[in-house]
Amino acid sequence: MPTSMKVRHCPSPNVNDRRTAVSMLVLHYTGMENAEAALQRLVDPSSGVSAHWLVDEDGEVTSLVPEAQRAWHAGVACWQGIHDINSASVGIEIVNPGHDGGLPPFPARQMEAVAALSRDVVARHGIRRRHVLGHSDVAPQRKQDPGELFDWRWLASRGVGLWPPPQPPAATSLNEGDRGCAVVRLQEHLAGFGYAVAPDGFYGVVTAAVVTAFQRHFRPARVDGAADGETMARLVALVDAAR
Ligand SMILES: [Zn+2]
Repeated sequence: MPTSMKVRHCPSPNVNDRRTAVSMLVLHYTGMENAEAALQRLVDPSSGVSAHWLVDEDGEVTSLVPEAQRAWHAGVACWQGIHDINSASVGIEIVNPGHDGGLPPFPARQMEAVAALSRDVVARHGIRRRHVLGHSDVAPQRKQDPGELFDWRWLASRGVGLWPPPQPPAATSLNEGDRGCAVVRLQEHLAGFGYAVAPDGFYGVVTAAVVTAFQRHFRPARVDGAADGETMARLVALVDAAR
């Protein structure tokens, strides 16, 4: 961890051995009333959940699980065909009550700490920019965190994760219920980037959930599951950038 960072230790019993090497960083919000409640849950043996790190609103960082071990933060999830996301990732929980708690903004001090910690994690494990993800990216049908107010663009400007370069919106847009080759192309782009969606040519609930997750991360001004021209353009730009 960065030498300038003060770290508190509070070991969680909810760990086991990794089965694969680390290739991803997964960010979460805690979705609980406050930091104390979140910490209690993350170290409670009966909760069955943990993460490697917890970052408080004031930027205090707590180590819960050594990064060499497998923490339990992702649950049923998938990215680029990898299902055991817990084995393949480092997980950071960011204290925020989440959508159910009114989704308050993430304080600047907290974001600075998240950026510093994340920068250190990706450097230590050689995690690629495109593999810095939200929980909603790897579990789009179940999860919304860290949510559309989490500033991925700012984080990318601090050297962590991808952000699409500006470009004109695409001429085509697609919506739930659409079918055909254009839908297959959209699904191939999403799947090529890493999302769990099959190119079946039908813009059903799964595709809509994946587009919503994509928007939460890369098009936060519009989170409605409809692939408008701006969403399409950003997706194509990211697929190109990730090549
Ligand atoms: Zn989560």
